[in-house]
Amino acid sequence: MNNRPHDAPALRVALLDWYDASGRTLPWRIRPEDRASGVVANPYAVWLSEIMLQQTTVPHATPYWEKFLAEFPTVETLADAPRDRVLTLWAGLGYYARARNLHKCAQIIRDEHDGVFPGSEAALLKLPGIGPYTAAAIAAICYGEATNVVDGNVERVISRLRAVQTPLPPAKAEINALAGEIASPERPADYAQAIMDLGATICRPKNPDCEACPWQAHCAAYTAGNMTDYPKKLPKKKLPTRYGAVFYLTDGEALLLARRPDKGLLGAMMELPGTPWLVVAPDAADWLSLAPAKLNWEEAGIVEHVFTHFRLFLTVYRAQSELPEGIHAPLHDLKDFALPSVMVKAAMVGKA
Ligand code: SF4
Repeated sequence: MNNRPHDAPALRVALLDWYDASGRTLPWRIRPEDRASGVVANPYAVWLSEIMLQQTTVPHATPYWEKFLAEFPTVETLADAPRDRVLTLWAGLGYYARARNLHKCAQIIRDEHDGVFPGSEAALLKLPGIGPYTAAAIAAICYGEATNVVDGNVERVISRLRAVQTPLPPAKAEINALAGEIASPERPADYAQAIMDLGATICRPKNPDCEACPWQAHCAAYTAGNMTDYPKKLPKKKLPTRYGAVFYLTDGEALLLARRPDKGLLGAMMELPGTPWLVVAPDAADWLSLAPAKLNWEEAGIVEHVFTHFRLFLTVYRAQSELPEGIHAPLHDLKDFALPSVMVKAAMVGKA
């Protein structure tokens, strides 16, 4: 039996009133007053923002969004760009599969949809890099479809509002259903953005600002005074560790780089030439046997980097000599090469 409070209409009204007065103004967003006077969202700009905001905060993603829009003002210009240019502009945002899928998706929209984004959640879901959350968000924001938009922020808000006892991730379906009971069929675009804003700015992970929250009177966790006990989570597994080495080889003008294989972690990005990443660190002599040239290598330092599924320790070796064949990146223009953050860190250690 469903014995939840029948408060969905009141929750909708409270959230939308709060959003009308206090929602964030973001460069890709249409404010309610503009939407009411007929301004419509640009699906390309919204799609770019939603892909960039997966696993990334608004302040970090916004300059990237601006750079992309300036260089690729339309989905066709993005589709026509060399993939390497897309990866280079993306460098530093992380989760590089997003950039490869972004480019692939743009090409599909150019080639199979006449350059127009499909106008429904179901059709959007078929495109690479667009999962349930992103499809629901674009369909609601750009096409007014009454979808149920649930990301990590919304999961947190709903689990507190309803004091969901099931831990995440198993609680996902339960939280989706609870969120769906509240989502607004009348103002889907504003509601989607409102609940995202509530999670991002008020119902924050550590210090929820319950005094400013439009849902305070309805919130089970607030009533019990245990807001930060939610969402419940399964105990975290300790991240496994991997070890590797990279080789910072320069002739004083340029740096030797290599390209990672297309598939897999950091696929198609640039890197300092290096070794495989292993569970147990071998001796230095074993690392050096894999160097791109037999030289007098000096150990420059160790870089630590945390990926989603493991922690990596990379020993950086450096040497100066004539460069062997490969990608020679001018030292002053490294930003024009698609180096992921871990390799930028390694290059800084090598250069120091
Ligand atoms: S009252 Fe507090 S815990 Fe409850 S939804 Fe609002 S901000 Fe989150």
